[in-house]
Amino acid sequence: MPTTSHRRPASLATCCLLFALVLLPPQIAAQAGEWTLHPDALRCYQLRHSDPEAAATLAAQRLREGGLQPPDALVFEACQAASRALMGEADAARAGVERVEALLAAHPMPPGYRLRALSNAGLTLQLAGDIPGALAAYDRALRAAEQADAWEAQVTTLVNIALVHSEELAAYAEAEALFEQAARVNAAHGAPMAVLGYNRGLNVLRMGRLDEARDHFEGALAAARGADQGVVLDRVEAELAALDGGPTARQRLERVFARQRDGGDASGAARTALLQAQLALAADAPAQASADVQRALSQLPASGFHAERDLALRLRADALAADGDWRAAFAASRDAYEGQLARLRTSQLDGLARVQARLMDADNREALVLARKENELGSLRASHERRQRNLAVVALAVLLLLALGFFAYQRRVTRRLRNLSTRDSLTRLLNRHAAGKRLGAMVPARVDAGDARTVVFLIDIDHFKAINDRHGHGVGDAALVTVARALTEACGDNAVVARWGGEEFLVGRRELDLAGACTVAARLRDAVAAATVGGGVGTVAVSIGFAAVPVFPPRAGGVAGAESGHWPDAVILADRALYAAKRSGRDTWVGLWGRAGAGAAIDDVLDDPGAAIAAGDLEVAAAREGFAWPEAPSR
Ligand code: GH3
Ligand code: MG
Ligand code: MG
Repeated sequence: MPTTSHRRPASLATCCLLFALVLLPPQIAAQAGEWTLHPDALRCYQLRHSDPEAAATLAAQRLREGGLQPPDALVFEACQAASRALMGEADAARAGVERVEALLAAHPMPPGYRLRALSNAGLTLQLAGDIPGALAAYDRALRAAEQADAWEAQVTTLVNIALVHSEELAAYAEAEALFEQAARVNAAHGAPMAVLGYNRGLNVLRMGRLDEARDHFEGALAAARGADQGVVLDRVEAELAALDGGPTARQRLERVFARQRDGGDASGAARTALLQAQLALAADAPAQASADVQRALSQLPASGFHAERDLALRLRADALAADGDWRAAFAASRDAYEGQLARLRTSQLDGLARVQARLMDADNREALVLARKENELGSLRASHERRQRNLAVVALAVLLLLALGFFAYQRRVTRRLRNLSTRDSLTRLLNRHAAGKRLGAMVPARVDAGDARTVVFLIDIDHFKAINDRHGHGVGDAALVTVARALTEACGDNAVVARWGGEEFLVGRRELDLAGACTVAARLRDAVAAATVGGGVGTVAVSIGFAAVPVFPPRAGGVAGAESGHWPDAVILADRALYAAKRSGRDTWVGLWGRAGAGAAIDDVLDDPGAAIAAGDLEVAAAREGFAWPEAPSR
């Protein structure tokens, strides 16, 4: 059992270090000559081990009063955090460290203060069970020490880091490497530091390297004597006495214990009493061991120093077992175990809770960011959809307008094209081609045997060439337009009125007998004669010839056009009549009307209408009295 306690003297080293740090701040400040420490700050540091609650209250009070310069505020915050850690208030300690870090970030501090604050933050976090946080703070402290060129602070910080490895992580080899590094820095600048030798000795002791431990302790002993560091001196002496063993060991330890108890190193005294208990156990004096353990426990403050307390409980269990009181031994070791377990669980749960809180924070932040992004995306999507919808509506409207416009345009173009293809550009009358089609449509498929038929009138302006010659082509055009209008007005809606070519017009009328046709012919002639042509022309005269479609009335039940029902036949015959009108002196009309029951072939009739007239197949109607069909065949 004694070997167990030697292997792991636990955080008694930390306690020693706390003392070392208490002494360090004013030293560093003095060296740097940078700031005069607030008198209450030093008091807070001195109070925090013997009465951490009073220290915390003092610091809180000064901080509450305000009006502190940043360096003083920093020291009070650091002292309060350390006191809270010593009181076992891990959360308050961590919160204090965060305020310290915030002050460091917000204000330029004297370098010595900066590294001291960081070093204390590391120690506070270590006491509060936040090992990663402690290591990070120590790391920053080390860099601050390097920057400030404060070699003692460098050594102390390296020792602190090594202690975390040795005590908290059981990484003795790594700790040894760190101690070695600290020793190199130390050797380069000054006399060996007692605190380094002492803690390095404890570390190799944990690895079971007793001789090496003794060497380090002896080095620390010499250093502590030289530097007049009574606290470290007593601790080292206690360790050496325990290592030496023998009959004098107990007395040597007893003397150290008394000095520590009276000098205020309560935890040092407790460690010494525990070393005595180990010796008693080794000497097979369990009752003595139990008494030593009791003494150690009575030295420890109410809270904190868990490692010492655990060691005490383990030693008590050993003593009880050695005494044969297995039940009590079992209870004591269970207490030790449960205490350790509870703290382990607390620190792990704390750590876990912090990690979880951070994760949840991150999760929440992420979720919030995600929600916000989703929101943004949603409204973006909505506005995009709205825009799309609007665009679609606008596009549809534009398309519709375009379609309507295009439709209208096409209709206009079509109408214009149709007009172009069906209308004469000068007079706006149907052209010859369109008129032919309309005439074809005008003639019914079956024509009654009655006398009423479709009649074709050909109208030609008399001496038109002379108008052109006399008044110019433009006036001639105007005359053509005047005649066209006069004919259209005289015909009414159901007639076909067309410009047949040059100064010749065609009118087609449905359902006319010979008398009706003569009336229309006279009306057409009169209408033109009544119209006035501008440009000094005055009036113009026309000659008109007409014929019916079919030329001859069909026999009963006959089909129109079977023999003479084609409109071109009627046009040819009307042209013959027109020629006759010209021949008879112009400004008059002549009609050729096929009689029912005529026997002549249509080709012969068209070829020589005079013969058909003579044969009685064609009747001649003329405006003029005494009209006679010309003798010779026309044209
Ligand atoms: P007639 O009484 O025998 O019919 O004699 P006319 O002079 O009317 O007949 P002719 O056939 O000798 O002359 C027709 C003229 O009409 C010839 C031509 O230059 C003219 N003409 C044809 N088309 C147009 C046109 O669009 N505008 C004008 N100004 N003159 C045209
Ligand atoms: Mg002519
Ligand atoms: Mg003419």
